Amino acid sequence: MSTDKPIQVSEEESRRVAEESRETSWKNPSFMKEMFLGNFRFDLIHPYPERTEWRPEFEEFFEKLRIFLRDTWDAVEVDHSGEYNMDHIAQLAEMGAFGMKIPKEYGGLGFDQLEYAQVMELLGVCDGNLTALLSAHQSIGVPQPLKLFGSDELKTKYLPRCAKGEISAFALTEPEVGSDPARLTTMVKLTEDGQHYIMNGTKLWCTNGTLAKLLVVMAKHEESGKISAFVVETDWEGLTVQHRCRFMGLRALANAVITFEDVKIPVGNLIGKEGRGLKIALTTLNDGRLSIPNTCVGAAKGCLKIVRKWGAERVQWGLPIGKHESLAHKIAFIASTTFAMESIVKLTSYLSNDKKLDLRLESAACKEWNTCMGWDIIDETMQIRGGRGYETEKSLISRGENAWPVERVMRDSRINKIFEGSSEIMHLLMAREAVDKHLSVAGAMVDPKSTIADKLSALPKIGLFYAWWYPTRWLKGLFTPSYLSYGKWDGHLRFIHRAAAKLARESFHGMMVFREKMERKQMFLFRLVDVVNELFAMTASIARAIALEKRNAPGASEAAELADMFCQNSRRVVELRFYELWNNEDDEKVAVSRQVLKGSYSWMEEMADKLEDDDVEQAKAPAAK
Ligand SMILES: Cc1cc2nc3c(=O)[nH]c(=O)nc-3n(C[C@H](O)[C@H](O)[C@H](O)COP(=O)(O)OP(=O)(O)OC[C@H]3O[C@@H](n4cnc5c(N)ncnc54)[C@H](O)[C@@H]3O)c2cc1C
Repeated sequence: MSTDKPIQVSEEESRRVAEESRETSWKNPSFMKEMFLGNFRFDLIHPYPERTEWRPEFEEFFEKLRIFLRDTWDAVEVDHSGEYNMDHIAQLAEMGAFGMKIPKEYGGLGFDQLEYAQVMELLGVCDGNLTALLSAHQSIGVPQPLKLFGSDELKTKYLPRCAKGEISAFALTEPEVGSDPARLTTMVKLTEDGQHYIMNGTKLWCTNGTLAKLLVVMAKHEESGKISAFVVETDWEGLTVQHRCRFMGLRALANAVITFEDVKIPVGNLIGKEGRGLKIALTTLNDGRLSIPNTCVGAAKGCLKIVRKWGAERVQWGLPIGKHESLAHKIAFIASTTFAMESIVKLTSYLSNDKKLDLRLESAACKEWNTCMGWDIIDETMQIRGGRGYETEKSLISRGENAWPVERVMRDSRINKIFEGSSEIMHLLMAREAVDKHLSVAGAMVDPKSTIADKLSALPKIGLFYAWWYPTRWLKGLFTPSYLSYGKWDGHLRFIHRAAAKLARESFHGMMVFREKMERKQMFLFRLVDVVNELFAMTASIARAIALEKRNAPGASEAAELADMFCQNSRRVVELRFYELWNNEDDEKVAVSRQVLKGSYSWMEEMADKLEDDDVEQAKAPAAK
């Protein structure tokens, strides 16, 4: 029985499922959560936790991989042919690249998050196709959820296989399920003897799906409607790879539509407890989400190198193009933003090792911010390279020019803002935490379902909390402590301190003004998230610059210049976002978009309709009326 028909799920139901899969408790402090509450806790990330020496066994692997990527892996050919070279994949498996984060006792290399981050950054310089294969396998595929939540039996059975190079994949998305797991239609039903689950359904866009031997599959229990995660072997009866999907970039991606028809899964292959599937996925992603932002740093550094060389070498209108002011600005943006991107994601990768802080917001911020900034950097690099940026590497090589891969990197990078949690979903996830404290205290005032009686009975608690909380957020903004002991960083740190207090006040103001409509005021919430992301990037850049200066690292004074440059620019972004909170055309834009969706402006599409089939036009006509 296939159950992959669209199901109707209300907005409320979708929210409920998202809310249930949220981790609600905060056992450890969180830098960003504190920011949302108006508290600038510089002490949580300063001194910046750098690692200056690496374990010899990591260095040995890294060097082997570097040589392999430089001399053997052919990213241009992989892109051109749209296929991985399977001999090269086998060599990577031999090296241990499929078991980087798998503990040694299970045959892996036992790397920690920062070591893994170094590898991801290197891969980001090299090839998006390879990055996606290795990261889908071990950031979201079978190894990570098993390591965190699997039974000893599952770990013993599958981790050694993964470490040896059996490729794995993660299957959540379905034709009707993108960002909204409540609509999941892949179902499991327990057999009468209680020994197996029977799985039916269809999964879409499963990266590594055509190569994988093992999958993590998210499915709903027919009995309870709860979602669980299962390890499924791809050669089990009833599992079919239906189609290989092809994309704008990542042309070799082994991405598949996979169907399950009465696939029999042993009960022991349930990961963690029944109904915990989404929580497992979210927790896995706290670390897993750091892969993409690390690869973005690699790609950004590749861009920096290209614009440095081309900006100096290419002369037009009597000057190297990098000396024309408008291009000089772009180059400064690329350099300072790359520094900030690296600062946040290396900080978060480092901190995830010692588990003293809760990093769920920082991971989401790294994913959102680095993918967006990374895209802007590639776009500016394309502009600086001019026509050569748009030309393929193969074509450049055959003309005897430098084959800098701007065109390929641009195609391969765009998906970063969409998969593993789109930019909008990352904003929503963070925005939920921005208002969490207010919801816990004053939820009754904003909940559309609460009665007058509920609201009245909540008043004393609300009054008591805000009588203290709100004035102190003003005081924090008015009486900023001195950061003079940090020398030239005093001004920026005071700005961050004041901005955090303002962020907290504005989120409270938003709650009071929009009340039950708050959850629909996405642009208001997203701007608060943009502010906190900028403040995080500023703080991490400053802390890192201080650490580099303190140990007299090579390039420390240039790093300080970049951090300062970044902060100056970022302060302007923060001020603009604060201004836009209350000065905007949000309602007008929503009204215009409603008209677009209703078809009120479809007369503007006239030219776009001209090449469509008459049949299509006729089929469209009734709907447009
Ligand atoms: C190359 C590639 C590889 C992939 N690999 C995998 C994989 O290995 N495993 C897997 O399970 N999936 C995978 N995916 C799926 C990917 O994770 C989804 O594309 C992503 O989750 C978004 O889902 P969607 O495309 O259906 O977009 P939708 O969810 O339909 O969203 C469309 C747009 O609406 C926005 N949106 C949705 N809901 C909201 C909201 N409430 N508020 C504001 N905006 C909203 C989204 O951000 C997006 O911009 C892959 C996809 C691609 C293209």
